[in-house]
Parts: sequence; C-alpha cells; structure tokens
Amino acid sequence: MSRSYYIQTLGCQMNYSDSERIDTVLQHLGLTKTDEMNNADLILFNTCSIRQKGEDRVLGQMRKITQMRRVRPNLLVAITGCMVRKTATKLFSEPDSLLRKVDELDMTFRIEDLPQVPSMLSELWPDYSFPEIIEANLKNYFNINPLYTSRFQAFVPIGTGCDNFCTYCIVPYSRKREKSREMDKIFEECRRLVDNGCVEITLLGQNVNSYGLSNLDNKTDEFKGMRQPFIKLLEHVDSLKKYGLQRLRFTSNHPKDLSDELIDAMARLDTLMPYLHLPIQSGNDEILKRMNRNYTVDSYRELIKKLRKTIPGISISTDIIVGFCGETEEQFMDTYRLFEEIKWDMAYHAQYSTRKGTFADQNLEDDIPKEVKKDRWHRLNELLKSTSHEKNREFEGREVEVLVEKFTKGRCEGRSEHSKIVVFNSNEDLTGQLVNLQVKKGREWLLEGCLT
Ligand code: SF4
Repeated sequence: MSRSYYIQTLGCQMNYSDSERIDTVLQHLGLTKTDEMNNADLILFNTCSIRQKGEDRVLGQMRKITQMRRVRPNLLVAITGCMVRKTATKLFSEPDSLLRKVDELDMTFRIEDLPQVPSMLSELWPDYSFPEIIEANLKNYFNINPLYTSRFQAFVPIGTGCDNFCTYCIVPYSRKREKSREMDKIFEECRRLVDNGCVEITLLGQNVNSYGLSNLDNKTDEFKGMRQPFIKLLEHVDSLKKYGLQRLRFTSNHPKDLSDELIDAMARLDTLMPYLHLPIQSGNDEILKRMNRNYTVDSYRELIKKLRKTIPGISISTDIIVGFCGETEEQFMDTYRLFEEIKWDMAYHAQYSTRKGTFADQNLEDDIPKEVKKDRWHRLNELLKSTSHEKNREFEGREVEVLVEKFTKGRCEGRSEHSKIVVFNSNEDLTGQLVNLQVKKGREWLLEGCLT
C-alpha cells in the first residue's frame, strides 16, 4: 500500500520553493501528499530559524507526534531547513545534534542533500518497496524539477548559501557557502515555466544580487572574470517577455551589492517591477558594524536616493532587527528617525533573539531585556502603520495592474506592480489573471480597488 507524507513549511520564499522540490522527490518515490498531519506516514518540517518562534513552533508539535506514534509505529518524522546542520538518520553513528536532542525525530537533512533522501528513507523503512529512481535530474538539488504550487507564479532559486556572516544569522552555517546556479539552467527553468503559462517569476537567493560573485563562483569557468553576472541573468530572463513573461522580481538583496548598473537595469528592463526589498537591519552605524553588515546608514541613504531618482515611484521594503546586543535607546532612536525619514512602504521588523552557533551567540551579550525589545518593536510598528497608510493613500485614484492570487466569497486578492496587496469585489474567480483596477482606498496594509 502506498504511503503518504505531510509537509509543513515555515519561513521565507526560499523554503517554500525548496518544499516544491521535496514534493518532486517524495512523489517520485510513490508517496502521496496529504494535508492532514494525522494521516501521514512521513511528517516533514521545512524549518526557519530566523526567529525563535519558528523553532518553538516545530518543537512544540513533538508531543503530539509521540501520541501519533503509539497508533502508527511506522511513522517517520524528518526536519530540513535552517534548523539542520547535518544530514543524518537516527541510525547513523554520528547523528545531527538535533537528532540527539529530539527523541521523536528520525532524520534530518540539509536541503542541498535532498538527493540523499530516497536512500535515507529506504534505510528507515526497510519493509517498504520504493520504485527505483532512474532520472538523472533527481541527483542534483538544483536540477530537481519542482512541483510548482501555482501555474501562473513561480519562485526560482538562483543560488544557495551566503558568505556574508552577519553576526546574528544562521544561514551561512545551515546553508553553508554561497554558490550560484548555472545561468543556462536557471534560464531553462524559467523558459519551461513561461511555456506553461507562468507570468510572474521571482528569482530567489539569500543574497540574490551577488549572484555569480562568491568565492566558490569565482573558481568556476562560467563566472570567472565575468562582470555583473546578475544583470546578465536578469537580461536573459527578461527576454522571455516575447513568450509571455510579464513580471520579474528578485529577493533578497544586500545593500553592499546594489550597484548603479543594477539600478539602471531595473529601470531599463521591461519585466522588472518597480519594487525592491532592501534590508537595512538598523539605522545606527555602530550597530550595523556589530552586525557585520558592511555598509553605513549614509551609503544606504544614497542607494534609496538613486533608486527613487532612477525609478520614480518605486516601492521599497526593508527588514529591521530591534534590541540587538548592546542597542541603546539612542541607537534605537536612530533607527526610528531613519524610518521617519525614508518612509519605507513596508518593513518586516523583529525582536532580536540569539541563534545558536552564530558569532553573536558566541561573542556578544544578548543584554536587552525582553520588555525593552517588545516596546521598541511596538513603537516601530505604530510608525510603520502610519507610514504604510500614507504610502498606500498615494495610490488612491490611480490605475494599477494586479495579478490575482486568490478568490474567496466574492472577493479577489492579488498584488500590484509595486507589490501592494490589492483586494476587490468580483462575481467571478479571476485567479491567475492580470486585471486593471482603479484604487478606491489606500488602507494601512492594502489597497481596495474596483475593476475598470
Ligand atoms: S546576508 Fe546576512 S542576513 Fe542575509 S542570509 Fe547572508 S548572513 Fe544571513
């Protein structure tokens, strides 16, 4: 009898994209996907460690799993994503520390080791007969064709890992060194998507705008000595407009790698949308240094000026961490004042919590009390509400083009070119279509429109 799997994905778009590749491998093994954790033979968590909450959410479900196992002794539990350092099963002599710590776990795998999952599963389920996987394209993580969840929108990874070692971040340890995917392979995947009706592609990477520039990339024939490989890639993918690509986006960016040429390319290439996510993390130079961010507040300001001059009306969002090690009230106020000055369209702000194994964990003191972090978060959130509202009101009366992503109870929801969430009433389900709307109202977090 065929066995089933349940997958729970947390965190960023990269994780959601990875889960589409996991679906491919598991379904090639003859497993069927279920939306019910209670019915699954394999429960898989694709985890995020950016915040403590993400880890707690996964570990908090383990008690439930102990109870499930009483009824289903064959049940397997696996974890991948940022919480994992090592690929292993509980049968290995040197398991991942997570396997030692969490009794309910059977296997952990780094996402790059996804091709090893079939052999790990057959070791843990010796009684189950797996179909033999012969496709060569299941042997390399990047070459695994994902089972896309949407037919009109897709996330395409262009690299993995990160060399930046921001002192608070776990990614360089969990995903290891930055390595870019071959350009022709990315193009092939995008071409295939567009041929199948996809109109919006988002290129993904931990540091997307340093594509092709890492130490590992420099050693390859493809990227050695190449100038601005990311722009070359964007130009290449943009050429798919003749086959139906309408929108191209990319995330996440590092300010230190945002060149003038890239800003010009954003203005020049037809499919690139007038929106950019550009994390600042703090508005104080000393804190930025402590975070090892490698830019200053002034250099960030300059980038915003250039972006707004070259791409008038561009929407910009950011990430901010409050309460990082040693952050004084005055240093926090630098962030607050910068927020008032720049007026980002959206900000994803978080209260700092230590990630085990990072530089900050080992060398800096997490000395800001929880209540202080919470208070700073709330003050920033109040400011964001009014800034975002003000920015959204600027759209009132304007026409926007929206790619509809869902339809519930007579209401469609999608995103505009500027990545604003737009809702509107409709008698029919327009999911997957690009529609023109007039914006009637700019709310705090979204726009309300009507069909023109
Ligand atoms: S740039 Fe910094 S925050 Fe982003 S993934 Fe790399 S190390 Fe983490």
